[in-house]
Amino acid sequence: MNRKQYRKRKKLRKRKIKRLMIAYLLRAILILISIIMMILMVCGCLYIYERFTKEDEKVNKYTDIYTDINAGNDVAPVASTENNAPEFCVVVDAGHGGSDGGTVSGKAVEKDINISVALKLKAILENDNIEVILTRSSDENISLADRTSVANDSNADFFISLHCNYYEKDAQIAGLECYYNNSNATESKGYAESIINAVSLSEDIETRYAKTEGYYVLRNTQLPAVLVEMGFLSNYSESQKLLDDDYQESLAQRIAEGISNKKKLASCPHMYSYCVVFPMAGGGGISRRIFKGTVRRGAFGSRNDRENRAADNHGYCKYGCAGRGGSRKRLLLSGSQGA
Ligand SMILES: [Zn+2]
Repeated sequence: MNRKQYRKRKKLRKRKIKRLMIAYLLRAILILISIIMMILMVCGCLYIYERFTKEDEKVNKYTDIYTDINAGNDVAPVASTENNAPEFCVVVDAGHGGSDGGTVSGKAVEKDINISVALKLKAILENDNIEVILTRSSDENISLADRTSVANDSNADFFISLHCNYYEKDAQIAGLECYYNNSNATESKGYAESIINAVSLSEDIETRYAKTEGYYVLRNTQLPAVLVEMGFLSNYSESQKLLDDDYQESLAQRIAEGISNKKKLASCPHMYSYCVVFPMAGGGGISRRIFKGTVRRGAFGSRNDRENRAADNHGYCKYGCAGRGGSRKRLLLSGSQGA
């Protein structure tokens, strides 16, 4: 091999290596581009998926509400309490106190259970933008006359007295009872029934009935009033439940529900056999519609004064209301609507 041939071969080899390097580089670039494209595609898909599922969830949420409304099921009202002054006031009376312990069974002392549930009920109602006045907030003696005076002087909308029952003749008897003054006291009766209804939906609280009884605090209060006997201390298992903090909490929760349901019903002047009102966003303004029997889907608008004014001016019901009518007797509120 002469020198010229050697040089030529060397040159060729160099060129070959150069070509190979370029080819590898191009391949690497291609792979990089496809990886980036794949990442972008995945991101895009995730974005689209997220966006559309959120929309679907929104629709489902509303559909569920409508379905529940149509089925007459229990729908937890959505509270909208921001910046609203309470329009409703409840006097909560914890029975007995001080030297008057009420009925006692072992560790279960009525006055203590009463005040404990009363304080829980107060917190729940206040959270629902309802003003609460307590006849006693600690372990003190208060006469029945003073209790009714607090109620009558308060300008409150509703009075509820909390007690525990005792029946020495039969230790098996258990369950919550709700008393109202007499059959003419239709408002009181409505509250009593609403509370019984709400409590009876609970699985762990036994209920008995709403019934008339001429208790002092019911006879002498000049506002809708009920007395709740939350359970029997003479029944051992119920007395143990009544001492339990969680049980007291669910009692308070259910009683509060009963009050709220009746309160919204009472606020509605229409008493349709079945109606649900919620704001409809549309065109230039927001109108409220009353749907009797069936509920159509509609867009929810935000709650504001304009809506309320529109409702007042047009005679539409501002409240969800449900009157007589079997399974549809539940009060229903939906969406951003608060009463
Ligand atoms: Zn009592």
